[in-house]
Amino acid sequence: MPELPEVETAKNGIAPYLDGFVIEKIIVRQPKLRWAVSAELSQLSQQKITALSRRAKYLIIHTEKGFIIGHLGMSGSVRIVEQGDVVETHDHLDIVMNNGKIMRYNDPRRFGAWLWTDNLDSFHLFTKLGPEPLSDTFNTDYLFQKSRQKHTALKTFLMDNAVVVGVGNIYANEVLFQCALHPLKTAGSLTEEQAERLVKSIKAELTRAIEQGGTTLKDFLQPDGKPGYFAQELQVYGRKGKPCPICFNEIESLIIAQRNSFFCPHCQPAPKLQKTKSSKGVKKVAKKSK
Ligand SMILES: [Zn+2]
Repeated sequence: MPELPEVETAKNGIAPYLDGFVIEKIIVRQPKLRWAVSAELSQLSQQKITALSRRAKYLIIHTEKGFIIGHLGMSGSVRIVEQGDVVETHDHLDIVMNNGKIMRYNDPRRFGAWLWTDNLDSFHLFTKLGPEPLSDTFNTDYLFQKSRQKHTALKTFLMDNAVVVGVGNIYANEVLFQCALHPLKTAGSLTEEQAERLVKSIKAELTRAIEQGGTTLKDFLQPDGKPGYFAQELQVYGRKGKPCPICFNEIESLIIAQRNSFFCPHCQPAPKLQKTKSSKGVKKVAKKSK
C-alpha cells in the first residue's frame, strides 16, 4: 500500500510535468473507484495548474478554479506518459496536459479516489485529520498532551489519523521498536521523554523513506513504471521468528486492531498489569489526573 513517503515521492515525480502547465482535458475510463470520480473532472479544460501539494496520503493538484484530490488507495500509482502511448489495463484516469505529457493513473484494485473540491479548508476528508508528521505542529508537547487519558494501545494511537497522519503499519512497528516501547502499552502511560523519542523517531523514519524515494523517482516517469515501494531495511516488520537485530531474541507478532504487529519481547517489554483485550485492566494502570 502506498504510504505517506510514496505519495510524497509520487507528487515530486509528477510535479515538473504538471506544475505551471495547462490541463487540456481529463479522461475518465473507470469512474467507479473507492468513491465515484467527481463529475467536475471530466468537465475541466484549459485549467492552469498552479501548485501540487500533499495532505496525509492525498495528492492535491491546485488549479485556478479548484482542487483535484487524488488518493492511491491500496494499489494505485501515477506515472507520466506521452500522448499516443498504449493504454494498459487498469489505467483508469488521464490528466492530459498542454505540454504533450499525460499523468496516467493505474489502479488494479480500484480503492483509490479522484475528487474535486473548490474549498480545501472545508473538504470533508480533511477536516478530522491530525497534523502532518513532518510539520512543527507535530511535536513532543502535542503528542504528550494528546495521549493523556487515552486507554488505547500505543500502536493503534500512533496509527490514528486524528492523532497524526501518515504513520502506517510498517512505520508504527519500526518506530516502536526503535523507541523500545511495546505496541500494547497504553498511550496514556507515555512519559514526556518517551513522547519526545517517538516524535523524533517518526520524523526521522519518514524523512529517510522520502529521501530514499528520491532514488526511485524515475520509476514514476517510465511508461512501464511500477510504484516505487521502497526497499526498506526493516528491523521488526515481517520478521516474526527471526532474530532481533539488537539482542538476537526471536521477534514475535500479534494482531492489534486487525493489523499485524511485530516486536522484540526483550527490547520492548510488555506493559505490566495489562492484557490484550482487558480495557478494565488497562484503566487501572492509566493515571487519573483528577
Ligand atoms: Zn531485542
